[in-house]
Amino acid sequence: MADKRQESRQDSLLGSDVENNLRMAFDQLPNKVRIMLFTEKGRNDVVNQAARELLKAFATISKKVELSEFDLDGAEAKKRNVTSSPTLIFEPDRYSIRYLGAPFGEEGRTLVGMILLLGFRTSNLSEQALKVMSKIDLRRDIKVFVSPTCPYCPEQAVNAVKAAIERPDIVSLEIIDIQSNQETAERYSAFSVPQTFANDVLIAHGAQSEELFVLSLQKLEQQTLFIPETEGELIETDVAIVGGGPAGLATGIYTVRSGLKTALIERGPLGGQIAATPVVENYPGFTRVPGKTLVDILVSHALEYVQIFQGEEVLGIKPGPRVEVQTNRRKFLAKAVILATGANYKKLDVPGEMHFMGRGVSYCATCDGPLFKGKRVIVVGGGNSAVTEALYLNNIDVNTTLVHRRNTLRAQEHLAKNIFSNNMEVLWDTEVLEIKGKEKVNEVILRNNRTGLVYPLPVDGVFVAIGYEPSVGLAKALGIELTEDGFIKHDSNHRTNIPGVYSAGDVEGGYKQIVTAMGQGTEAALSVFEDLMHPYWAVDPEVQKTAKS
Ligand code: NAP
Repeated sequence: MADKRQESRQDSLLGSDVENNLRMAFDQLPNKVRIMLFTEKGRNDVVNQAARELLKAFATISKKVELSEFDLDGAEAKKRNVTSSPTLIFEPDRYSIRYLGAPFGEEGRTLVGMILLLGFRTSNLSEQALKVMSKIDLRRDIKVFVSPTCPYCPEQAVNAVKAAIERPDIVSLEIIDIQSNQETAERYSAFSVPQTFANDVLIAHGAQSEELFVLSLQKLEQQTLFIPETEGELIETDVAIVGGGPAGLATGIYTVRSGLKTALIERGPLGGQIAATPVVENYPGFTRVPGKTLVDILVSHALEYVQIFQGEEVLGIKPGPRVEVQTNRRKFLAKAVILATGANYKKLDVPGEMHFMGRGVSYCATCDGPLFKGKRVIVVGGGNSAVTEALYLNNIDVNTTLVHRRNTLRAQEHLAKNIFSNNMEVLWDTEVLEIKGKEKVNEVILRNNRTGLVYPLPVDGVFVAIGYEPSVGLAKALGIELTEDGFIKHDSNHRTNIPGVYSAGDVEGGYKQIVTAMGQGTEAALSVFEDLMHPYWAVDPEVQKTAKS
């Protein structure tokens, strides 16, 4: 009996649990979603087949998804000016939305999101974002470059779908998979995903909240700050957690299980750094697990307890008996706030790095690695991240050299030895002085620290993996004390110097492992619970002074 179940699981492309969930969701759609698939035999055959099988599976799951297939050299393709194989066109009579490539891997989330929005015929944009959309009065032709291995891409792609649904009168959209459309990606110098263009102008590098996306779309320039016109709705809660990485997710599970109403706010994708980690081998209980799989497991566990406000950015925090957390959509009033804001990629800070970001300089091997197959790249760094990313790139046939400024690796022995057993080139005692190129990276200038020799090395890409800097912008603005190294200063109960505000995870410094971040989150959650039962600030006159000031 067990064997039969196993067989039927393998027979279905998506797995029976996923299919059942999709069926339930699609069957509730008030409208059918029509998808046209255009392919040409002999051009991207593997991707054509992947697109065909995936869409057929979706159309079999529910009658609400209607698939029709066409040849690229047929009349329908000519009429609709389709030139790329495969191309998917969605609800062509209402909207102008195309997908160039096969939406598999991470991009499955884009496809599902798109079908749901199209089935409801709603953009589901926030009130703030709708206000911006209504101000756009000239045409916007959007292109979002994505890849199936990029965890950040679906968020940006769905933002663009929302814009195309909201304003079909002026917005057209092409979501372009860089792996099956390398020429187009090269033409736009889109070597890092997601990248978004509107009217052929680069308007976003990376994933944005929907408010920042529509603002960038309106201004035709990347925007980094969205100031809402109103404070939005008010949510009262016991605990607000800022950050949806392992620390934040673990914190949420523990606060809710302690009986505290909790809101978790995350501006980007959930999972933090693990979402972009190719493989995790040191999370106890899992001998070897893709970072993204671990994130999915963690997120579904957390969702059993905590309400997650994703794609929402915290703009400011005001201390007080009730701590105010203002986001781009609403205001939270919380008895305690836990900052689990993690860390951001550290930059090399050499000439050319910012200029070529997305055009050969990358901080995410899983996202951008596939574009460099058969090409030569360097990975800079000597820690666990650099070694993990170098091994991943080597594994997918990218000609990879590790460049490390010292002569020993900081990475764990177990990982490091794989570099040698794979005969990978390592340039020891070597620093990157400059990244050069024309449209995209074609050379790095290196210096050997022992000999002093400065020399050029022709490369197509530079993957920077030199550690992380704590994300302490909010903490600083709030007046939280930092350590000399720039991490949040906290006591053994994860309390900061501001009453009612706690910290957890990489933003605190320390070992920066997934398990330690989750341990810190757990401790912070239990500490908040105890403090809310017996408020320390109510009995400590020193703390009372700070709370009032
Ligand atoms: P890391 O351990 O801090 O290593 C950073 C590396 O980059 C070091 O080798 C450092 O060189 C080098 N570096 C720093 N600044 C540089 C610069 N300006 N120019 C050139 N090289 C520079 O950072 P990480 O590898 O990103 O790891 C961060 C944390 O996450 C660590 O605690 C790590 O163990 C953890 N992590 C865990 C996993 C996992 O559990 N699977 C995976 C990845 C990361 P020096 O050695 O000379 O200082």
